[in-house]
Parts: sequence; structure tokens; C-alpha cells
Amino acid sequence: MPDSIPSKLSIRDHDRAAVHMTYVYPVVSRRAGGVSVGINLNPNNACNWRCIYCQVPDLKRGAAPAIDLKQLEAELTSLLNDILHGDFLQTRVPEDARRLNDIALSGNGEPTSAKEFPEVIQLIGRVMKRFGLIGKIKLVLITNGSLISREAVQSGLKRMAKLNGEVWYKLDTATREGMARINNTRQSLKKTAEHLTLAAALCPTWIQTCVFAQNGAAPSAQEQQAYLDFLARLLAQGVRLRGVLLYGIARPSLQPEAAQLSALPAAWLEEFAQKLKQIGLTVSISP
Ligand code: SF4
Repeated sequence: MPDSIPSKLSIRDHDRAAVHMTYVYPVVSRRAGGVSVGINLNPNNACNWRCIYCQVPDLKRGAAPAIDLKQLEAELTSLLNDILHGDFLQTRVPEDARRLNDIALSGNGEPTSAKEFPEVIQLIGRVMKRFGLIGKIKLVLITNGSLISREAVQSGLKRMAKLNGEVWYKLDTATREGMARINNTRQSLKKTAEHLTLAAALCPTWIQTCVFAQNGAAPSAQEQQAYLDFLARLLAQGVRLRGVLLYGIARPSLQPEAAQLSALPAAWLEEFAQKLKQIGLTVSISP
């Protein structure tokens, strides 16, 4: 079970800058007790969604640019080499976090919008094999799931499954109104259910859900029920979900709605987690 969310929520900018790379950056997490190697396929800060809690600076609508696969492979090799055979852990990481936890595709936008997504997974697999990492660490894809109907994305997910991969699938709400308000997408719930079903069939899939108060109000009882019903329906249909990663807004949003958002008390998350457990889901909370 994942013990933290090495997403952009936990990126420390100085780490990204310090390694001077375009696509690859280290995330040191004391809480998770290790280092995550992040891969950012969206150095152009472009995403097809615009979540109101998003922490990407200067976020714009769009897709990932063309990926320089050679450069990505060189950067990944260099950082892993530094972590596994160099002095990165000794010089940059607190003693209690000196291990490599995972490789996470978590960038400044939607990673599956990169045309080269399947080639990127193939490349990561090649590098992991070279370092003897297959089966030893996880490969995580943090995604909003909106492009999973693309064959290229599906082929990437199939490859990920062979690399101890996990999909962390963003689902913050299960109402049309909620998706428009929180994620600024017009994607239907029918499509969301189809995509989630596909993801779970291709690769072990966790739901990642960000919960927060907007203008002082926590998600309404109806919102909560719609979300619980949506997941319960999927489970009843045999969709195999690994569980839910429930997280709050630990860092400020960089979107215009930032001032409207505030963190919910830990007790709220706990109570909501109980409701999820009651429908048979494993829950990991990251306040
Ligand atoms: S899907 Fe992720 S990158 Fe895109 S807007 Fe939402 S939080 Fe930001």
C-alpha cells in the first residue's frame, strides 16, 4: 500500500532545480521514509484539466510537448546512478529516508497527454532493468485518467503492470457539477466510470481524492453520498480497486480560487475514510 503521495504536492522546488534536469527530479520525503524519483512529462506546465487546488505554477491548458526520449533516459540514468551508486543519499537525504521508494510519473500537467507515453514506459522499464529495480520498487502513474481511452495510453498501462506499476487515478468528486467546479472539466461520469474500469483492468489502480473546504464549506452530504455510491457501483460491477488515497490540501493552490480553499480537520478525513471502509475499500490518509 502506498505510504505517501509523491505527487507535485510534495515536490520541493529546490530539489528540482538542484539537479538541473528537464524531466527528472528527486522528492525526498521524511514521512514516507525515502526518495521518490519524479518524472515530469509536462515541463510546459500544460494540463487538459484545471483543478482549483493545482499547485502547478502558470498552469495552462494543453498537452505535454514532444518528449526528448534520449534526454529523459540520460537524466533518469544519471539520477538513479547518483542515488544508488553515488553520494546523493548521504549528502542530500536525512538519515531516516535514505532509500529509493519509487519512480513516479507526476509532472506539471497530465502525463498521459504525452504522445510518447508508451515509449516513456518502455524506456523506464529498460532503465529499471539495468539497475536491477524491477520488482524492488514501484512505478507510479499519477493521472486524471481522462485520456485512458487512447490505445497508446492503454498500451503504456499494460507495460506498467509488468513493472510493479500502480495507477493513482484522480477522482475528487462524482457529480457533474463537482467535476466542473473542482477540475474544470466537462467529462461525464459515464466516461469517468469507463476510464476507471479500463485503468483497473490494465494495471493495479488506486483512487486519489483531494478533499478540502471551499468558501468554508466541506463537501456536502449529497456530494459525499454521490462519491460513495459511484465507487460502490464500480465495486459491485467487479472493478478491482486497490483502495483510496485520501489527501487534504497541505500546500497552497496556485490557481485563482486559492483564497476560497482551506484544509479540512483531520477528524473530517477520518470520518470520511470510515464511510469508504464501510463500502469495502482500503483507505490511506495523507492530511
Ligand atoms: S490534473 Fe493534476 S496537473 Fe492537471 S490541473 Fe489537476 S492537479 Fe493540476
